[in-house]
Amino acid sequence: MITDPPAASAAVSGLDASLRADLDALRAEGLYRPLRVLETAQGPEVVIGGRRLINLSSNNYLGLNTHPRLLQAATAAITRWGAGSGAVRTIAGTQSVHEELERRLAAFKRTEAALTFQSGYTVNVGVLGSMLEEGDCVVSDRLNHASIIDGIRLTRADRILYDHIDVDDAERALNEARQKGYRRILLVTDGVFSMDGDIAPLPALVERAEAVGASIMVDDAHASGVLGSNGRGTTDHFGLHGRIALNIGTLSKALGVVGGYVAASQAVRDHLIHKARPFLFSSSHPGSVAASCIAAVDVLEQEPELIERLWENTRRFKQGLRELGFDIGTSETPITPVMCGEAPSAMALSDALLERGVFAQGIGFPTVPRGQARVRTIVTATHTAAQLDAALEAFADAGRAGDLRRR
Ligand SMILES: *Cc1c(COP(=O)(O)O)cnc(C)c1O
Repeated sequence: MITDPPAASAAVSGLDASLRADLDALRAEGLYRPLRVLETAQGPEVVIGGRRLINLSSNNYLGLNTHPRLLQAATAAITRWGAGSGAVRTIAGTQSVHEELERRLAAFKRTEAALTFQSGYTVNVGVLGSMLEEGDCVVSDRLNHASIIDGIRLTRADRILYDHIDVDDAERALNEARQKGYRRILLVTDGVFSMDGDIAPLPALVERAEAVGASIMVDDAHASGVLGSNGRGTTDHFGLHGRIALNIGTLSKALGVVGGYVAASQAVRDHLIHKARPFLFSSSHPGSVAASCIAAVDVLEQEPELIERLWENTRRFKQGLRELGFDIGTSETPITPVMCGEAPSAMALSDALLERGVFAQGIGFPTVPRGQARVRTIVTATHTAAQLDAALEAFADAGRAGDLRRR
């Protein structure tokens, strides 16, 4: 039986009133967004509010979340390992399937070792938060992902920012760090930037970092399964194996499941097992998650044609948007922003697309800087040419309606 919740006390209502005022401020800025509730699995199409829509909002680049090998692995693993792991990794939450996944990830990324975390977010918070202390310095791209920024906030290390993908400015920051005589200097960058789809200039950054004895951490959340041989990421794409100290990846995007990992040396792995707080204080994945991730690595190794299809679709869709006259920024990857200026324009375009059968989220501050609101699109390997053409038609029509095309 469903009953109404009991009446709120004055203290509870007071907090609510204050929160409602904050929410009204968001509404006034055009940044209030209801959650879109999917009634299906993520796929090239999804159902929202009973309507079937072409899905351009997913990080499920290769469609692995519904790949038969992953589903089969998950189902078998539930029976063997149970629904949950029952503990944190350092107490009784490490099952052999977790370590098998880590061995597979290390071999795939060509590093000595790997360690998995609950998500890409927690791996960044755990790695940065445990590796840097007072007397250390982190040199960070201004547009790095929020999880990197939060990880840095948890350290007592000094922070020097450099302008987005600007190698000269990174060199300036590295030299400044060297002159101050820090113990550890760590340069941190996204491999592929999640909102713009551009690629970090890793070879030049590695060279500049090595010149001052700094280490590099690359967050390949959007490069894993997308760039490099079999989707090994930016380190492989640029041939920099052995020169990146910390290779961060997520299991939540192209790999189709959930989780994060760092591929690095055995020393890094041992350090994190003893010091990384999300590893120590939050329970591990169910074994079925680890088993699905192992199946995802199998698919990357054995079905590279999925990645080829992803890139074919990417080229087709970008070309179409360009021909329609949209400003698609500086993207070099399947992440393609359609730049809209202020947030209300991005939200209006997103809503107009939704009416026309396309699900592409509008994104505004604080996820992107003010004045750079956008509709962010990601095509996947599983979209058909017909779906992409239909989506382009919706963009043409919605753009006409909203006068958003710049050219
Ligand atoms: C998505 C993303 C993350 C977070 O990964 P989750 O597994 O979703 O927690 C971390 N870093 C970058 C650059 C990302 O794009």
